[in-house]
Amino acid sequence: MPLTFGEYVLFKGRGLYTISEGKIVNSFRGCLDDLEKLTYSTYLCELIDISMVDDESNAVLFKELVTSLYLLNSNALDNEILIRAFEIKLLKATGYALDLENCCKCKRRLSYCDYISLAYSGGVCNRCEKSYGIPISSSTYNILRYLNFYSLDNIYKLKINDNIKKELYSIMKSLIGSIYQRRPKSLDMLDIIKESGDKNE
Ligand SMILES: [Zn+2]
Repeated sequence: MPLTFGEYVLFKGRGLYTISEGKIVNSFRGCLDDLEKLTYSTYLCELIDISMVDDESNAVLFKELVTSLYLLNSNALDNEILIRAFEIKLLKATGYALDLENCCKCKRRLSYCDYISLAYSGGVCNRCEKSYGIPISSSTYNILRYLNFYSLDNIYKLKINDNIKKELYSIMKSLIGSIYQRRPKSLDMLDIIKESGDKNE
């Protein structure tokens, strides 16, 4: 079953693993019965796939993934905010943490920022050269900082308007594409869902 979180006993044969025992902890049924949640949870798994290599373990990232699936399954918060927050945690857990407190080029403290560098994964101050990056509005920048700072189970109070959501989506999409050099395919499905949602508004 897709999305099954469980405990398994594995035996390694010639390069392949065989499961000899297994116990299901949670099968996230709530995510399987809802197309948007199913797409989002598939996307989370795909992000793990593009950011890790086989047999690599990452306990921090595993915890963030399971927490996200529980939150997605429970309707505890806005799905889109949760996904953006997971993307930010993924960058952090795989060694590409966003630097949003200081300029990523000169390390000067940032009190205001309107540009995110894709090359350095962080905010650029007004004195440094703004190249290979994306402009960002100050409200979106503040949300990005908030999501970067607080843990996943602490972001449920956050409310974000649609313009900021769109800007965040496009910035995170560019960052992920630039860092991992691979683009998750389920994002295309997310775009289709979003477009049909926009048309219905
Ligand atoms: Zn600077």
